[in-house]
Amino acid sequence: MKITKISHKTITIEPIVSFKIASSDDTRTDTIIVKVETDAGVTGYGESQPSKVVTGNNIEDVTNFLTEMDNTLKGENPLNIGRIHEIMNRQYKGKTAGKAGIDLALYDILGKHTGLPVYQLLGGSSNQVESDMTIGIDEPKEMAKLARQYVDEGFNILKIKVGLNAKDDIEAIRLIREEVGPDISLRVDANQGYYKKQAVRVLNEFYKYGVEEVEQPVPYWDYEGMKFIKDNVTQQIMMDESVLSPQDAFRAIKEEACDIINIKLMKSGGIYPALQINAIAQAAGLQCMVGCMSESRIGIAAGAALAASQKNITYADLDSYRMSKEVPGIKSDFTQEGGIMTLSEKPGLGLDIDLEF
Ligand SMILES: [Mg+2]
Repeated sequence: MKITKISHKTITIEPIVSFKIASSDDTRTDTIIVKVETDAGVTGYGESQPSKVVTGNNIEDVTNFLTEMDNTLKGENPLNIGRIHEIMNRQYKGKTAGKAGIDLALYDILGKHTGLPVYQLLGGSSNQVESDMTIGIDEPKEMAKLARQYVDEGFNILKIKVGLNAKDDIEAIRLIREEVGPDISLRVDANQGYYKKQAVRVLNEFYKYGVEEVEQPVPYWDYEGMKFIKDNVTQQIMMDESVLSPQDAFRAIKEEACDIINIKLMKSGGIYPALQINAIAQAAGLQCMVGCMSESRIGIAAGAALAASQKNITYADLDSYRMSKEVPGIKSDFTQEGGIMTLSEKPGLGLDIDLEF
């Protein structure tokens, strides 16, 4: 089998809830759909969503990369996923969202070719994943209202964005706990918004309201700060913006800087390197989460397949497709009841794409 064409199409994701986070004012939610065609008549789809603030790429960078890869990868066997990563990595450092789009499409092709859903190709630990639902920064009372709504929709795990104003953060967590009762799991994500000693104080306050996991309290480069916080609080500390690659994961483990690693396909460059991150973490006794940027159902179907396939991935934050309007022409076959996502048994990523490229 040979790759005959790689095309891409930029589409706009329209949010239905306002979503403020500590690290960024970037509200652009464009995403790029990637189509890989082969001489065997099998076509795969992937998604590339750049994040200027996390991966340092914008839409133009990624579309240029994809155009170049159309030339470079033409004639390659799409089933040689490791080889295609070698070629992409030899040509470009970073560009992880672009690499992810191609990687996802290759796994979709591999699944269609073998007749297997991607979650089984990757290990098939389970066909289900429990995702949280995320609440952006707002007036604490509004955040509590949204928490009520999500719990009424059946979610058992809420992820609360904090990190802009510590006093408001504590008030929001207090009101949310009061609103949802003791049985709902609360996690927070500060998106690099605190200083290390401030983080210790604030996290100890959060603990009074049963917050058990805290994501990226300090800037991505501050591994020492992360370790300081981890050593001085009760919660599990998760790295997100600090860990993009398998090499970052190795460093995080060596420096004992976190308890959990948040893998995102757009940071790692797709499923192939994401599996390496998870294996490194697992060998060191750390668990992983699979998170997302603002991907459509394509990126989410892939993230859910990865999360379900690996026992060591015990957390999932795959809610972006629920926070925006459905994209016309993009259908996926996974289902979701409350937080429980059940994966498609169709070959590949279980997608039904009807878009003009
Ligand atoms: Mg995060």
